[in-house]
Amino acid sequence: MLLQIPLDIPDVEIEKLDASTKKSFVITIVSTLKGTICKSCGKPIDKFYGYSKEITLRHLPILEKPVWLKIKPKRYQCPYCDNGPTTTQTCSWYDSKSPHTKAYEQWLLRELINSTITDVSMKRGIGEAAVEGIINRYIHQQVNWQAIKAIPLLGIDEIALKKGHKDFVVIVSAINEQGKKHILAVLPDRKKDTVKAFLAAIPPLQKATIQRVCVDMYEGYSNAVYETLPGVAVIVDRFHVAKNYRGCADKARKQEMHVLKKTLSDEKYAELKGVMWVFRKRWVDLTEEQQVPLLMLFRYSPLLKQVYIFREVMTSIFNRPLTKTQAVIELEAWIKQVQALGLSCFDSFVGTLRKWMNEISNYFIQRQSSGFVEGLNNKIKVIKRRCYGIYDLGRLFQHIWLDVEGRRLFGYA
Ligand SMILES: [Zn+2]
Repeated sequence: MLLQIPLDIPDVEIEKLDASTKKSFVITIVSTLKGTICKSCGKPIDKFYGYSKEITLRHLPILEKPVWLKIKPKRYQCPYCDNGPTTTQTCSWYDSKSPHTKAYEQWLLRELINSTITDVSMKRGIGEAAVEGIINRYIHQQVNWQAIKAIPLLGIDEIALKKGHKDFVVIVSAINEQGKKHILAVLPDRKKDTVKAFLAAIPPLQKATIQRVCVDMYEGYSNAVYETLPGVAVIVDRFHVAKNYRGCADKARKQEMHVLKKTLSDEKYAELKGVMWVFRKRWVDLTEEQQVPLLMLFRYSPLLKQVYIFREVMTSIFNRPLTKTQAVIELEAWIKQVQALGLSCFDSFVGTLRKWMNEISNYFIQRQSSGFVEGLNNKIKVIKRRCYGIYDLGRLFQHIWLDVEGRRLFGYA
């Protein structure tokens, strides 16, 4: 049984199909398009002047097999210019500088979304240098401001390029009113002056649309914003806050477990197996069975019970639809209670909360920002995992751009 598949290329005819190698299809085609534009005078010309040397272009695979197209580009001679120069015909479906059809390159770009060059290169049997060439042909290494109108909400976040490494690069992203995400920059370090220089260089038209900036609790970022974007609200998003107080609770658990290991019998200590995992969960998310070791832990360590409760109270404050003023009252009350109970494990968090109270409570003003920040943080987390080892900032920008915006452009919408 034979199957007919359209080649999906305009203005060509198939001359020959060679499927003899079994590993690939080689298709010889001819252009049915007549004429071209003279490269010297720009006039349309149609005096045929023979064929150029045959070129081979990689096209979309058929049944997982690579497809190669062979074509002899047509040449035309100009009757208007002196000496009658010849011009090779250009076709819309390939670029003379590339060894692939445009359809193939865009397919590969879709493959690259949420993937790495190495993965795509291996899976699709194409050299890494060729993949890089495609990326460079389609994706800028810097933001194209002309494509961006309004950026009401900015996000500044950092990623470490190597696990445990102190070298950070800073990702500046944005979202518009329609929820469309943009990557604006990958900055070489997290120094205040570096961030300031970028923010100051945002074109005035777009700069005037910035209303809020989400940052982690780091003065380099907040001060860069305060010094370059007066009147813009700085927000510390709840996920950075949560990381902080949840870390305090976890540290207390570790210390208490250490004590319990020494004071409890081996049998009793064994009953606490798996308690680390359940301690990190919300009470409502646990099954009755999972609650057992946690209740056991609370019996042995009343301190951890209080730590757990106050961690959850903090989360519930962020879940409630409070105004900024109400939120400040709630947060202050939490600090008072925690200190009255002597829960010193939260001391460092209390210090952070006091220092960043304004920016943290700004979160409550327009909570819709949280969705963006959450989405973006998740995205950046994924990117972080995949970007270890990419040191070229332009390349990094291209990758993040592909993940954040590429789906819209190359993806199947
Ligand atoms: Zn001419």
